[in-house]
Amino acid sequence: MGDSSAAFPLMRSRSRMPHLASSSTWDADVIVVGAGPAGSAAAAALARLGCHVLLLEAQRFPRDKVCGDVLLPEVASALAALGTSLDELAPDAHVVEGCNFTTGSGLHAGGNFCDRRGQTHVWRILPRRILDERLARYAERCGAELLEDHQLERTEWDASRRVNVLKVRQGGGHTTYLAPVIIGADGTFSRVAAGRGLAATASPPRRYSVALRAYADHASTTPRFEVITDGLLKRGCCWIVPVSPHRANVGIGVFDARDRLTRGELSQHLTRMLGSRIDLSSASDLTGWQLPSASLRRRTVADGVLLVGDAAGFVDPFTGHGIHNALTSGLLAAQAAQRAIASADWRATGAALCSYERAWRRRFAFDFWIGRVLQHVHGNQRLLEAVVARAARNDSWAGQLMGLIGHAEPRHHSLRLQFLWSLLRSSLGRPDVSTAWSPPA
Ligand SMILES: Cc1cc2nc3c(=O)[nH]c(=O)nc-3n(C[C@H](O)[C@H](O)[C@H](O)COP(=O)(O)OP(=O)(O)OC[C@H]3O[C@@H](n4cnc5c(N)ncnc54)[C@H](O)[C@@H]3O)c2cc1C
Repeated sequence: MGDSSAAFPLMRSRSRMPHLASSSTWDADVIVVGAGPAGSAAAAALARLGCHVLLLEAQRFPRDKVCGDVLLPEVASALAALGTSLDELAPDAHVVEGCNFTTGSGLHAGGNFCDRRGQTHVWRILPRRILDERLARYAERCGAELLEDHQLERTEWDASRRVNVLKVRQGGGHTTYLAPVIIGADGTFSRVAAGRGLAATASPPRRYSVALRAYADHASTTPRFEVITDGLLKRGCCWIVPVSPHRANVGIGVFDARDRLTRGELSQHLTRMLGSRIDLSSASDLTGWQLPSASLRRRTVADGVLLVGDAAGFVDPFTGHGIHNALTSGLLAAQAAQRAIASADWRATGAALCSYERAWRRRFAFDFWIGRVLQHVHGNQRLLEAVVARAARNDSWAGQLMGLIGHAEPRHHSLRLQFLWSLLRSSLGRPDVSTAWSPPA
């Protein structure tokens, strides 16, 4: 991601796009549907590039979003590319420095999120009720028009006028909006994607996860988040993420929905696995959700449409994290959309929109691939036990594992072939081999 966008001044004017400025038939150069991290990032970037952008949001802020509330280290660079920072948007976030992992057989491994030089890269924890409103207000300050309580019902492509027609429910009534480009940032159950044959949820069940999340009282003794697995919950885990010294985001996720666990069954697993660690009677906001799992084959571009964030399925298959990809894809889509509407003819417009797919594949390909490999390791009980057993007795191994889980540095920097080879040997029960990576100081 280049940070050239930082060079553009904030502006509130209508379109600066020469051939669009005179158009009176369109409501905006670009309409972004959904004001989660992906939509707010896209809207902020477009406004900073001088486009007239509407940001439609079905709900009113502040609103909850089911999430672990973790901001990975790369969120900082994604926000910098949008012209803002964690200091501006999350100065009050709680800090987590590492992870403790416990398996069903009682094995423990833990450590800080260290890179190869031994430097710790912390996670910021901020409830989405707070983060998402701050991001949306930032997009407004950049010049986007945020319209809350505006729910997209349907979108069509009018081929003769080359314009998107959006039917939007607003309060008790309906309004129609027109724009040459729309960005679908409306999450897992995207209506933009469904309406244009790009639906993320049309994937097979093994390509999406199911989860339950709540907030509960929890006195955290270490600045670490906890992952708990057991033999009765296949392909999943529970988590405890401290959001303050006395409260935690707790939940359960199964990253392969083919077992078709009901909400009641997930809740029973959660009680069994966390009941002895957390006072679940203090739990509030218990809510279920689905996550798409990233796929390089997913189509994200159609006539006048780009998909970003969860609407495009950009969620890490291993950790379930997606805010960093939502922000980055929002920026990439904004850059492609701006080029498209500034193009002199419609062929160039189509080419500019298609460049978005190449851009996100270049950016995310390795992460998605390695995320799927790690997801398979996590889903194989025997292999998982072997990996954690080894991490418990080998600092170097534990350091590399925690660095990977915590995104201490880009995965193509932190992952070594020796590590993958050792994973394979662990699964076969072979003895340790040394890794090229030294333990953190
Ligand atoms: C249990 C769970 C835990 C997670 N934990 C983490 C974590 O700790 N860290 C992390 O990085 N990621 C996490 N994720 C993933 C993360 O939540 C998503 O990747 C992220 O929210 C994607 O942002 P988005 O903007 O694409 O979509 P969303 O955040 O889903 O935002 C979509 C927005 O669109 C709006 N909308 C929907 N439909 C319409 C419509 N028809 N019209 C107008 N507006 C509409 C919604 O109201 C919402 O505001 C977790 C996900 C789950 C389910």
